[in-house]
Amino acid sequence: MSDTIFSRIIRGEIPCHRVYEDAHMLAFMDINPIARGHTLVIPKQPAPTLDALSDDAAAAVGRVLPRLCRAVIQATGARSYNILQNNGAAAHQAVFHVHFHIIPRYAGDGPGSGLGIVWPATRPEAGEIAELAMQIAAAI
Ligand code: 5GP
Repeated sequence: MSDTIFSRIIRGEIPCHRVYEDAHMLAFMDINPIARGHTLVIPKQPAPTLDALSDDAAAAVGRVLPRLCRAVIQATGARSYNILQNNGAAAHQAVFHVHFHIIPRYAGDGPGSGLGIVWPATRPEAGEIAELAMQIAAAI
């Protein structure tokens, strides 16, 4: 895959406000936060999207992500937060190196501040959901 800004941050070629680093992972503050304390957590493996991540790198994510969430809520005082993980241009991904956003939520978040979520729930036929479940299970 091509080099991204996050690979350059990992290599120390571009500065960041680092909050955590180990052999497999790096966490740093988002340069354009959408909420106070907005933090990015990235595996060092340069996979473009989550589905391309190795099992070892995925395990490294799982080991540190909850710990980093605890640190963000303790430092910010936020009681709620979202983990956002975008894959692909249609999913709003801008940097094609896997990353998890930790986005604290505060009382009063709303249009124009913090993370906005549209959740257009639908009611598909039961058979349609069952069919998709079988197809996904078969693809694992
Ligand atoms: P995406 O839309 O790909 O999920 O989000 C990419 C995120 O990376 C954005 O929130 C953006 O502000 C952040 N970002 C892009 N370039 C830089 C950078 O050079 N440094 C830091 N710290 N964050 C960046």
